[in-house]
Amino acid sequence: MPYNFTTKADYQQYFSKAHDMVRRSIKEFVDKEIRPHVDEWEEQGEFPRELYQKAAGVGILGIGYPEEYGGTPGDIFFKIAATEELIRSGSGGLAAGLSSLDIALPPIVNHGSKDQKRRFVEPVLSGDRIAALAVTEPGGGSDVASLKTAAIREVDHYIVNGNKTFITSGCRADQITCAVRTGRPGVHGISLLVIDATAPGYSVSEKLKKTGWWASDTAEIYFDDCRVPVANRIGKENEGFYLIMENFQTERLALAVMANMTAQLAFEEALAYARQREAFGKPLVGFQVIRHKLVDMATLVDVSREYTYRVAARMDNGLDQVKEVSMAKNFACNTSDRVTYDAVQILGGYGYMRGNVVERLYRDNRILSIGGGTTEIMKEVIAKLIC
Ligand SMILES: Cc1cc2nc3c(=O)[nH]c(=O)nc-3n(C[C@H](O)[C@H](O)[C@H](O)COP(=O)(O)OP(=O)(O)OC[C@H]3O[C@@H](n4cnc5c(N)ncnc54)[C@H](O)[C@@H]3O)c2cc1C
Repeated sequence: MPYNFTTKADYQQYFSKAHDMVRRSIKEFVDKEIRPHVDEWEEQGEFPRELYQKAAGVGILGIGYPEEYGGTPGDIFFKIAATEELIRSGSGGLAAGLSSLDIALPPIVNHGSKDQKRRFVEPVLSGDRIAALAVTEPGGGSDVASLKTAAIREVDHYIVNGNKTFITSGCRADQITCAVRTGRPGVHGISLLVIDATAPGYSVSEKLKKTGWWASDTAEIYFDDCRVPVANRIGKENEGFYLIMENFQTERLALAVMANMTAQLAFEEALAYARQREAFGKPLVGFQVIRHKLVDMATLVDVSREYTYRVAARMDNGLDQVKEVSMAKNFACNTSDRVTYDAVQILGGYGYMRGNVVERLYRDNRILSIGGGTTEIMKEVIAKLIC
């Protein structure tokens, strides 16, 4: 029997029967459409484009988005259930690639015009177009206020020049929600543009080779006098920084959820292995040092997940959780760092072998404390609010 982390009563604080139904249908989708192919897609470095449409067909892509643009509104725990089940496929890259819309679309949904939502949200939720978010540049990702990609206005177009890098789904994105400099240096000179991949002057690198997240394509994107209609700007000119910071809050929550589920999977694998593997004439769980390692793993995951859920519930109720979501992300990432490391240790040599899910979780985990704001940047955010 797998260790049951959450008692039914606790679970019901956050998840209702409706959430359970959605979770079950996503689990079925993962079991049928993803799990049988995931090893192959990891090796290929991407999953088939059709998966977006299939996921849209069963309602996964639309979770949490307005109905009039093809979504299914619901509280934050529907999205959490979806993220958890996608991570259960055992491929963080698959989950990240299929979910890149969740970092690309919220600024458009929250601050775009009706026309922009129709053009940029609807076709993504139906799985016909792929959306990515492009903030990071080769010169730096943490210091968003110093980004350099320039967008100079010429009548009804911006002429964009510069580069973005490490962009999830960047190789085959049809549109990117892109942070550009339209004004003076610093936070007050940044705008968000939705740039179509067919725009003149837009080009993309080969897939970047990574430590983990192999099933997601990651790209550098180049703009060479790239023409973007002013009608594609989201929100007011030079006020994009605030939209980016707002967007980071849900991205950080999603990364905390991913870290918790990565850790849980690693724990489950380690426990199952420790029960059946024998050394010196008894199962590994017969050794106190292994049992205690498993106990520490279980404790960390349970505590981390409960805190993340609490922060999520508060965010969903409109409370400011900038400090708390940063804490949740750091705690969850520290947890998954420790738990994936220990899971490999418990599996011994098998934990280091390609094709073993624990080996993949260990690699996939490493990005979680870097993406969406590094551990150090999270601490700076927290420090500003408590010191
Ligand atoms: C697989 C992958 C997918 C990604 N997907 C996307 C995406 O879809 N879209 C996107 O825009 N970006 C994406 N990123 C980029 C990611 O968000 C950045 O890598 C991250 O924000 C860190 O930026 P950086 O790599 O430039 O590191 P830097 O900002 O150069 O930081 C380097 C180191 O210095 C530390 N540091 C920086 N400033 C401080 C400070 N003030 N105090 C203390 N320490 C500091 C950092 O914590 C880090 O340890 C992705 C990255 C990866 C690897």
